[in-house]
Amino acid sequence: MRGTVLHAPFDIRFEERPDPRIEQATDAVIRTVATCVCGSDLWNYRGINPVTEPRPIGHEYVGIVEEVGAEVASLRAGQFVVGGFAYSDNTCANCRYGVQSACMHGGFMGTCQAELIRIPLADGTLVALPEQPDAGLVPSLLTLSDVMGTGWYAAVAAEVRAGSTVAVVGDGAVGLCGVLAAKELGAERIIAMSRHDARQKLALDFGATDIVTERGDEGVARIKELTDGVGADSVLECVGTAESMTQARQSTRVGGTVGFVGVPHGIQIGGDELFRTHVGLRGGPAPVRRFLPDLIGRVLDGHIEPGKVFDLTLPLDRVAEGYAAMDERRAIKALLLP
Ligand SMILES: [Zn+2]
Repeated sequence: MRGTVLHAPFDIRFEERPDPRIEQATDAVIRTVATCVCGSDLWNYRGINPVTEPRPIGHEYVGIVEEVGAEVASLRAGQFVVGGFAYSDNTCANCRYGVQSACMHGGFMGTCQAELIRIPLADGTLVALPEQPDAGLVPSLLTLSDVMGTGWYAAVAAEVRAGSTVAVVGDGAVGLCGVLAAKELGAERIIAMSRHDARQKLALDFGATDIVTERGDEGVARIKELTDGVGADSVLECVGTAESMTQARQSTRVGGTVGFVGVPHGIQIGGDELFRTHVGLRGGPAPVRRFLPDLIGRVLDGHIEPGKVFDLTLPLDRVAEGYAAMDERRAIKALLLP
């Protein structure tokens, strides 16, 4: 089969790779129906996370089960499946507590921009759809593998509830999905921070009520102004830089909560500030497996269409163009079809 390999910063290639096979009795192998490039892949692509040797890449996928190991009980060949970017048994203490992305026996996917994917702990990781979905639903189902599940977790972690005032820091696919999640969870006011025209439009389409284009101190001041000087009840931090986390914390009202899902790079938080502001922080790699059944239902019945975050569709063998477009912010998110 062919798969994507990152050779060095900015050197991404689609090339011949060994076919994945069943290695453990709990594995499945799926044939990829769709995959995509994630904002977090760019940390590797840009060499911010050092690339010391060629390595496969990609962690978002939907596919058709090709083969299952002897101990896989809930899946059979031919089923359409969705799974998260983390694999998990869905039975250990952490999984049962709803943190499948910290499964005691799990780990993270990393070979998914390929024609075939080996899925460890397939029974716990994958959710099979009752029937083959319409092709038009595939992009939205694919977002559940990461960005929509992660945006959802940001909103849940930030304690968004009916009537909440929410601010979303970050206008990438996760931030936009965070807007959609906040809307679904009943937020009354959703302030999206973006200075990019197409992203602002999509944020409004997903339920944002206000757009703030300012950043830094001016951005904080603008959010305070929109909230009678108080700040937002819930802030979704969807970037992961020191600047975006500062923006998020300072935009949160006293006693409010930040949900942070951007992979942290260089973030330091002072105990004194946390003590003084009563701001709650919860974040981490999203346990998207926890939300899959609910979110699959919302996509299948047409209630949400998070697949709108894809504004570039490419055949998988042109994956390098997808990386370049996202790196240069010409695309929000690139959909890749084998
Ligand atoms: Zn587990």
